[in-house]
Amino acid sequence: MHQISLLAQLAAIDSQLDELHDELGDLPEIVKQHEKLVADKTAVVEATLQSLHDIEHLRGTAHVTQQELTDRETKLGEQQFQVKNNREFDAITHEIAAIKDRKAELDESVRTAAVREENLRTQLEQQQRELDEAKDALADKEKELEELSGDQNDDLRKFIEMRRKIIGQVDSELETEYQRIRTFHREAVVAIRKNSCSGCYSAIPSQRIMEMKYNREKIHTCENCGRILCTEDEAVDIDTLVEGNA
Ligand SMILES: [Zn+2]
Repeated sequence: MHQISLLAQLAAIDSQLDELHDELGDLPEIVKQHEKLVADKTAVVEATLQSLHDIEHLRGTAHVTQQELTDRETKLGEQQFQVKNNREFDAITHEIAAIKDRKAELDESVRTAAVREENLRTQLEQQQRELDEAKDALADKEKELEELSGDQNDDLRKFIEMRRKIIGQVDSELETEYQRIRTFHREAVVAIRKNSCSGCYSAIPSQRIMEMKYNREKIHTCENCGRILCTEDEAVDIDTLVEGNA
């Protein structure tokens, strides 16, 4: 097989490999962004749950304290009937008043907590919904990536193997040249169509095309864009190439 045919095949395969690479594109990065979103939304939900837990705790301790204060108040009320003088009576009256204040304060904080709890529960519902949505979106993207990678892996293996076989037959100098052109143009080998380079559309003299057909050992490049040129009959499409390899 002529070197130019091998190069044309190599270009067809590399074009497929480029496409596979493009398909995957930003998807891995997008999956990462979704993971971050789920982590953030989980943290928000956890913070709300912690606040609700704190309120629950506050209610529990408030209840116990209220009970203790009530007991103390009752006891003081009984003591007030047994005082020996006004001073003692006033002292107990004072203490009872302080207990009543403390109980009122506790009531108030429990009431405030109840309002706050209601708000938190509403927020939690919304936060939970958002978290669920973020999780669904992440699962979708992960599935997309997995499916694409799965299909890709089969294709990748196939094309890499085909590439390996071809590259083994290409002159190493030509291979280097091909790779060098690849750094400028994705398609390093292009066919001449309608007497023009199909890479840059500049005209190719018919005399030159004749030479190319006459001597297929010589490698020609486009004088305008520098891509390797092949005649139309040497250009291959990937499906034919895959069939030939199957
Ligand atoms: Zn050109």
